[in-house]
Amino acid sequence: MIAGPALRVSARALRDNLTTLRERLTPAVLLMVEKDDAYGHGVAWATPLAARHGVGWFGSHDITTAVRVRAAAGPAPRVLSWATSGDDEIAAALTHGIDIGVGTMEYFRRVRALSRRTGHRARVHAKIDTGLHRNGLLAAEWADGIAEMLEAERSGDVRLVGVWSHIAEAGDAEDDAAAARFRRAVARARGMGARLEVTHLTASAASLARPELRGGLCRIGAFCYGIRAAGAPLEPGLTLVATLRAPVVAVDRHEATVGIGAWHGLPTTLGGIVDVGTPAGPRRLTAIGDDTLTVEAWPGCHAGDTVDVWGPGARGESDPTTLAESIDTIGEELATRLSPHVTRVAVD
Ligand SMILES: *Cc1c(COP(=O)(O)O)cnc(C)c1O
Repeated sequence: MIAGPALRVSARALRDNLTTLRERLTPAVLLMVEKDDAYGHGVAWATPLAARHGVGWFGSHDITTAVRVRAAAGPAPRVLSWATSGDDEIAAALTHGIDIGVGTMEYFRRVRALSRRTGHRARVHAKIDTGLHRNGLLAAEWADGIAEMLEAERSGDVRLVGVWSHIAEAGDAEDDAAAARFRRAVARARGMGARLEVTHLTASAASLARPELRGGLCRIGAFCYGIRAAGAPLEPGLTLVATLRAPVVAVDRHEATVGIGAWHGLPTTLGGIVDVGTPAGPRRLTAIGDDTLTVEAWPGCHAGDTVDVWGPGARGESDPTTLAESIDTIGEELATRLSPHVTRVAVD
């Protein structure tokens, strides 16, 4: 019987990445993004490790994940969730002390109402739309919105603790314009009397490449896990945390078939050159099926051998971003779409 595919997650690599990121970001503070089950690595594994390593802020899109992060992190760290959510989820967030990102006044009013009803005062981060048009108060509604939030704060219903936005990381000029809109919104809120604990704008790529755009917090997902941005090498000091190790399930003279578990509908047309790691070193990936890969065979290759589909490079394999680029998606997609049936194995 051949063991199935496994995602091997390295505690040392995660800790080293967190050390590197915290050093690079200082004096800004790292907020570790853990949406999609910590980018497929497992919230229950990644969170306690990061919390013990001193990470004091975590974030997730959805509240369900944020509640799991809270359970794994303990009561001390801040946890932020930014998806516009239903009332039951908002109530759960408040009960578990989760900060809430709000991007519309309709959502803010629901959060305020639930704060009153549950008796747990919400900590709110107000989002300004800096040009992406994906959620966020428009500049024209900002002053009225902040005024309403500050009035709610005076009534004891909520605390306005942060102002934030998301930039496209699309190019310097566009990002500069977004950052300028962001700074105006922050200044306006402060001028109106907001006592903000934090401001945050940038994710992985811009946080490192454009330090001048950072707020006090940097929301970092991909780089914590060593997943590089498309079209760029990984920053020095970061390494890939996960290795996807899968068994050879069949061999013919020229090719080995590797069982990877389901990809959940990712493209299967391979448009670039990707190497995987084999016991004999790097070998070319030649085809992607629904739940298998086909790889050039190597001398002595047999069923039960293992192939590292991606990993930190020890056997010559590529990283998930390289594979993603060859099928026209991004590295995070591969990590997060990996079937939950793929065993997660924690290694040091
Ligand atoms: C996913 C996400 C991030 C993290 O992005 P990375 O590029 O993975 O670092 C930051 N902020 C928001 C709002 C996100 O949704």
